[in-house]
Amino acid sequence: MIKKIFLLLIFSVSAIFAFDYNLKPKKVANNTWCFLGNLDMPRVSNGAFMSNFCYVKTSKAYVVIDSGSNYNLAKQAYEQMTKIEKLPVAKVLNTHGHDDHWLGNSFYKDEFNSELIGTQSINEQVKLGHKPRVFHVLSKEQMKNTKLTSLDKVINETTTIKVGNTEFIMIPVGVKAHTSEDLFVYVPQNKALFTGDIVMNGRVTSNRDGSVIGTLKALEMIQSKQWNTLVPGHGYDTSKTAIDETVKYFTLLKQRVLEAVEEDVGAENINKLVKLEEFKDKALYEELNSRNIFDAYGELEFYEEE
Ligand SMILES: [Zn+2]
Repeated sequence: MIKKIFLLLIFSVSAIFAFDYNLKPKKVANNTWCFLGNLDMPRVSNGAFMSNFCYVKTSKAYVVIDSGSNYNLAKQAYEQMTKIEKLPVAKVLNTHGHDDHWLGNSFYKDEFNSELIGTQSINEQVKLGHKPRVFHVLSKEQMKNTKLTSLDKVINETTTIKVGNTEFIMIPVGVKAHTSEDLFVYVPQNKALFTGDIVMNGRVTSNRDGSVIGTLKALEMIQSKQWNTLVPGHGYDTSKTAIDETVKYFTLLKQRVLEAVEEDVGAENINKLVKLEEFKDKALYEELNSRNIFDAYGELEFYEEE
């Protein structure tokens, strides 16, 4: 009896400390639900639920696109999805190698032996074995069970994957855009497109691993597809206007930095002269905008229009 009470006590204490994400899936298209993360940096207080990930229901199973930043987040998302329909997860498709988009993979591998598919950059990180940023931000308890799990399949060219009656087209950008290697996923049947972090809205992007010219190319590729729903890597707008902010940001960034280069503004003065104040009310403007401008200067200093 005493042992039972003791165990119960331990159980309830750990239940108090287990991070509850209070998740609610949002239906964004036919057979498509997403969990839209907040617009902040990863923090203990938000449990690093600050990126978007989605479930697409096929006739046989779910396909998950990006998996969030940890095991526990992925597990709680799946629990919510079972209220819609209790289906296994056949595959997880990852858009790029930033930790907040793929560390949830370990849950799907453990629970369903899902096939994990994405960019080579993820397997390179698994091979190196360095714990990505989110491990250093969240508590041990919050990262419990989260493992670096290798992908079963790496995508190097446009690839169509069929699950049940639904086709998923994985399209690599082919040049450095948001990272050295990004891909986006198009589901023609639902007219839905999942861009990863090539597109964000409501916040300023982090272009530390990216390229202005490459992102503009990726945005053109995305605009050439027929979609009614676009799920950004971060941000709540999934409508026809979801891409507009990112197009405006990178177009102005390129234009203003090139004008400054033309006027012989040096690197040391670029942040005084180029601001992008149109975005000052967006989340993370203070944290990320100056760095994006500084990096864009480095990229565009010797740029010549093709
Ligand atoms: Zn990213």
